[in-house]
Amino acid sequence: MSETNFDIVVLGGGSGGYAAALRAVQLGFTVALVEKDKLGGTCLHRGCIPTKALLHSAEVADVSRESAKYGVNTTFNGVDIAAVTAYREGIVTSKFKGLEGLIKARKITVVRGEGKLVAPKTVQVGDDLYTGKNMILATGSYSRTLPGLEIGGRVITSETALALDYIPKKVAILGGGVIGVEFASVWKSFGAEVSIIEALPHLVPNEEESVSKQFERAYRKRGIEFSLGIRFQSVTQNDQGVVVTLENGTTVEADLLLVAVGRGPSTAGLGFEEAGVTIDRGFVITNERLQTNLEGVYAVGDIVPGLQLAHRGFQQGIFVAEEIAGLKPQVVDDVNIPKVTYSDPEVASVGYTEAKAAEKFGADKVSSYDYNLAGNGKSHIIGTAGSVKVVRVNDGPVVGIHMIGARVGELIGEGQLIVNWEAYPEDVASLVHAHPTQNEALGEAHLALAGKPLHAM
Ligand SMILES: Cc1cc2nc3c(=O)[nH]c(=O)nc-3n(C[C@H](O)[C@H](O)[C@H](O)COP(=O)(O)OP(=O)(O)OC[C@H]3O[C@@H](n4cnc5c(N)ncnc54)[C@H](O)[C@@H]3O)c2cc1C
Repeated sequence: MSETNFDIVVLGGGSGGYAAALRAVQLGFTVALVEKDKLGGTCLHRGCIPTKALLHSAEVADVSRESAKYGVNTTFNGVDIAAVTAYREGIVTSKFKGLEGLIKARKITVVRGEGKLVAPKTVQVGDDLYTGKNMILATGSYSRTLPGLEIGGRVITSETALALDYIPKKVAILGGGVIGVEFASVWKSFGAEVSIIEALPHLVPNEEESVSKQFERAYRKRGIEFSLGIRFQSVTQNDQGVVVTLENGTTVEADLLLVAVGRGPSTAGLGFEEAGVTIDRGFVITNERLQTNLEGVYAVGDIVPGLQLAHRGFQQGIFVAEEIAGLKPQVVDDVNIPKVTYSDPEVASVGYTEAKAAEKFGADKVSSYDYNLAGNGKSHIIGTAGSVKVVRVNDGPVVGIHMIGARVGELIGEGQLIVNWEAYPEDVASLVHAHPTQNEALGEAHLALAGKPLHAM
C-alpha cells in the first residue's frame, strides 16, 4: 500500500469536484482528483449537455414543421434518432476531450478508480492512499425513485431515457419538475404522445406561480397532457407497455414510464459517516462556507442540500478552493443562483418569487411588474408568447426576476447581475437595451417598475 500526500484531495470529478481542482491549482495547491467514471460527471455525460443537445434537435424539428409560417417551404421527413444520437454524442465527446486536456495541462493528478474515505482527509483507491491537508467531497447524485416503485424494464430514469435508440409512441412521465418537463418537450417535438403526472398543484412547481400557469397553458396548447395535484399509486408493465394508476383510480397507458422525481445524494457506502462526517438523509451537512463538521473537510455540488445545478457546483468548487487559500470568498445564497428550464417554452428565474419576497420583506413592502412579451418586437418575430416579471422591494432593490418564453434562458445572465448586484429598477431603467432584442423586455419591466413605462401601460 502506498500513500501520496497533496494539499487537496477531491473525491468526485463532476462539475463541483473538477471546478474545485482547477481553481485550487491556479492558487498554487497540489491536487489529486479521484474519479471512478469519466471526468465531467453527470452534467457532461448524462445531464445538462446531452439533454440540451436533444432539446436543440427537438427545436429544429419544430422549426422545420412550422417553417411555412415564416414563408419558408420545407418538408419535415421525420427524426432520425441514430443521427440525433451521433450529434449528441459528438458534442459530449468534444467537450469531454476539452476537459481532459485542460485538467492535464493544469497538472492535476487524476486518480482513476472508486475512492473511499478511510480517514477524514484520506481516500483509498484500490491499494493506494491519497491524503490531503484538505479534503473536498464531491460525489454527486443519482436518479431517485419512490418507495415501492422499482426501476427496470419499461420503467426508466433519465439515464435510460437519454440512451433510447427509438422514439416511443406514448410516454408517461412521473414528475413535472425540470427533468420531467424537458423530456416531455423533446418527446412531444419528436412526435410522441406525452402525459405528465405531478403530485403538486403545478408543473415547474418551484417557479413563480404565474409562470407555472403560463407554462401549463403552453403545454396544453402543444398537446402535452398532464395531471396535477394527484399522486402516483402503482405501475404494472408487460411486453406491450405500462399502466400507471393514480391515487384517484385513473390510469395512464404508455410504452414507457420515465421516473423524474428528483435526485438523491451519492454518499452511501463511501465511508463518510465512519470518518465522522455529519450526514442527514444521505446529504452532507455543511455550514454556509461549505465546511462539514470536520475541520478541513468540505463538500460541494449535489451532495450538499439545496439546488442541484451544475453552475452551483462550479461556483461552490471555486468557493472552497478560495476558502482554503484564505481568500474569504463571498457566499452566494441558493436563492440568487439562476435557474433555467430548457423546454419549449423556456423558463428562467433568479431570486425570490413574489410570494416568498412578501414573506421575507412584508407584503406591503414589495411590488412587481409583469411585462407581457406580446409587446416585445423580437419575441413577436420569433413567434413566442411569455412574460418577464420583476419583483422589487419598495424604494429598494430588485429581488426576483421570473421569465417564460422561447430563448429567455439567455436573458438570465442580465437578470442574475441585477439581483446579485442589488440594482434598483431605477438603475436598470437608465441603461440602454438594444432594439430589437428580447432583453428589451427586461428593460421595459424595469422602466415600468421605476414608474416610467415606455411601451407598456
Ligand atoms: C437529465 C439531467 C439534466 C440536467 N440538466 C442540467 C442543466 O441543464 N443545467 C444544470 O445546471 N444542471 C443540470 N443537471 C444537474 C447537474 O448535472 C448536476 O447538478 C451536476 O452534475 C452536479 O455536479 P456534482 O459535481 O455535484 O456531481 P456529479 O456531476 O454527479 O459528479 C460526481 C462525480 O463523482 C464521481 N464519483 C462518485 N462517487 C465516487 C467515488 N466513490 N469515487 C470516485 N468517483 C466518484 C462520479 O462518477 C461523478 O463523476 C441535470 C441533471 C440531469 C440528471
